[in-house]
Amino acid sequence: LEEQLRKSDTLNVVGELAAGIAHEIRNPMTSLKGFIQLLEDSIKTDYSMYFNVITSELSRIESIITEFLILARPQAIEYLKIDISKVMSDTIDLLSAQAILVNVQIELQVEQSLPLIFCEPNQLKQVFINVLKNAIEVMPNGGKVNVHIYQKDAEYVTVSIKDRGTGISEDKIKRLGQPFYTTKERGTGLGLMVSYKIIEEHRGIVEVESEEGVGTTFHISLPIYQQ
Ligand code: ADP
Ligand code: MG
Repeated sequence: LEEQLRKSDTLNVVGELAAGIAHEIRNPMTSLKGFIQLLEDSIKTDYSMYFNVITSELSRIESIITEFLILARPQAIEYLKIDISKVMSDTIDLLSAQAILVNVQIELQVEQSLPLIFCEPNQLKQVFINVLKNAIEVMPNGGKVNVHIYQKDAEYVTVSIKDRGTGISEDKIKRLGQPFYTTKERGTGLGLMVSYKIIEEHRGIVEVESEEGVGTTFHISLPIYQQ
């Protein structure tokens, strides 16, 4: 039954998203068509700028589709008893090149004798990628991102990801996780929606602490594996 519920949850989200996706794809498409038209009309002018727009609109479509497919693809979901700090250190390795590029250091601190949790490691990796990428993206001038993993209480292990970025105002914290909510010129607004969904399916909790101009901390709590 649980498996069925999980599946139907995902299907609902996919259904709700379909209309939004169509809308989101239509905008860059219209822009592309317009610029291709202009290209045809103006062989004599300098049109390198048109190519820039075409290329960037194409990559926008690409990233929307990629993030959507992660959600929509029927995955073999396999829950395992694992050490969450291993998933996190793999994720940090994966993002190290992007972090170094903008001079961001990601520091991982793991509490000793951390209990195991029951989870889908690939999905959790996806969550950590999304949250860490957001942290890196709000720190264009570099700095430190702290990842702290600890046992919160008898029920949960918490992963806290703290950045020193722009911060988020209180009214905007409520909008996090809404499909297509983004404040970035080239954002998709799908990363947190997918992440919140995955944490919900793990019966976990996401808490966001933020101060504008100071930074943001995402606290992700996951249930401890109980024998
Ligand atoms: P995207 O990154 O494509 O914009 P997300 O779903 O990952 O989409 O994030 C949605 C929005 O939430 C971002 O555009 C940003 O406004 C806000 N946000 C998420 N993480 C952070 C953060 N660490 N600091 C400040 N704002 C954030
Ligand atoms: Mg993002």
